[in-house]
Amino acid sequence: MNGPVSIEVLRQHLIDPEICIRCNTCEETCPVDAITHDDNNYVVKADVCNGCMACVPPCPTGAIDNWRTVSKADAYPVDEQFTWDVLPEQNTMAVPAADEAPGDPAADASGVEVDTVRGSVVPPWSAAKPYVNLYTHKAPTTATVVGNYRLTDASTDSDIHHIVLDFGSMPFPVLEGQSIGILPPGASADGRTHHARQYSIASPRDGERPGYNNVSLTVKRVSQQHGDAIDGVCSNYLCDLKKGDVVNVIGPFGGTFLMPNHPNSHLLMICTGTGSAPMRAMTEYRRRRRLKGATGKLMLFFGARTKEELPYFGPLTNLPKDFIDTNLAFSRTPGQAKRYVQDAMRERAVDVAQLLKDDNTHIYVCGLKGMEEGVLQALREIGEQHRMDWDALWAKLKREGRLHLETY
Ligand SMILES: Cc1cc2nc3c(=O)[nH]c(=O)nc-3n(C[C@H](O)[C@H](O)[C@H](O)COP(=O)(O)OP(=O)(O)OC[C@H]3O[C@@H](n4cnc5c(N)ncnc54)[C@H](O)[C@@H]3O)c2cc1C
Repeated sequence: MNGPVSIEVLRQHLIDPEICIRCNTCEETCPVDAITHDDNNYVVKADVCNGCMACVPPCPTGAIDNWRTVSKADAYPVDEQFTWDVLPEQNTMAVPAADEAPGDPAADASGVEVDTVRGSVVPPWSAAKPYVNLYTHKAPTTATVVGNYRLTDASTDSDIHHIVLDFGSMPFPVLEGQSIGILPPGASADGRTHHARQYSIASPRDGERPGYNNVSLTVKRVSQQHGDAIDGVCSNYLCDLKKGDVVNVIGPFGGTFLMPNHPNSHLLMICTGTGSAPMRAMTEYRRRRRLKGATGKLMLFFGARTKEELPYFGPLTNLPKDFIDTNLAFSRTPGQAKRYVQDAMRERAVDVAQLLKDDNTHIYVCGLKGMEEGVLQALREIGEQHRMDWDALWAKLKREGRLHLETY
């Protein structure tokens, strides 16, 4: 006689293609390489994902936090997930309720020690509460271009623009360190509409122009990749925008890369290229507040290939020395040795160490992916030279929302 048929049930981890902005954060975070992508979608391999949740807090949009209860034999394969434009509905198959499903990762979500992540997955304790996902792919908002200026010297190939977008009467509350998504018009060769690209906000919460409902972005025109000429879809669209043009915007995104608001909190900011956008936002917020008596140190390490390629070079070097301690590093100045941000940090090791020892210090790193390793290594060396246990300090900084990395 046959016994009852037992169905092995899986709570399958999926990524919502409608919300995902393809920022690669989840793929980088996943400790078991369960996440992969093609030109269309980011997807999760059901047979590899162990539901550890390491990828969930860093995701700026929440697209990562989707689950479907399926029989293990019917788990959605990655090839099928690659073709999705929307997530499938939850199948009404007779399966245990979600909270009874074996290995329900959400049940283990609280208290997970996300030690595979290099930076904080929580905001500073005194950060203001951000709004996220007010506008989505299904319901974007629009903004009007009110300014588009080239920031880098015309003599260089590096074409970086400062673009100001005005939301008119549409609410678009942002905090320094957040980003927005831009939906470029048109479609790719296979007929799919272009997905959104993410850009850090370069202006403070009260607007590029104080009291105006506008934000600024720092956008680098992508015109080559690995030496081959390619025109990046969204960066070229943005850099070519004219005053009065209207763009589709989603967001805001990001709930952790935020600045502290308590008095005497210090900002140690390390960036390259367009990674300067959030640093400009934070610096400008502090500059405006400084006039009202706010305190706390600002130390900036800013790298570019040459002085001519450094966005905001003029305004930055004009800031008062007693307001911000600015250290520039250029890696391709003719006739000079290559100097990267981590070299400049080592030169200022005594002052960096003093900040590292202070519980009010918050560290922000933003720029190209390649900088992260070198900066963390420099922080380790400086900490150890000054008799700090870097591993313990690193864990503490992460836990307390005081080490934020955003590299792309
Ligand atoms: C959290 C986050 C914040 C970001 N903030 C900014 C920002 O403030 N300013 C900004 O300019 N960009 C920023 N980006 C990058 C931005 O989202 C786009 O990836 C970039 O503008 C290229 O998009 P594209 O449509 O022009 O190129 P695509 O058509 O998407 O791609 C062209 C190819 O170029 C590669 N590529 C992407 N970026 C670069 C680059 N910088 N240099 C060389 N090759 C590249 C891509 O991998 C892709 O294969 C951010 C990304 C993330 C994830």
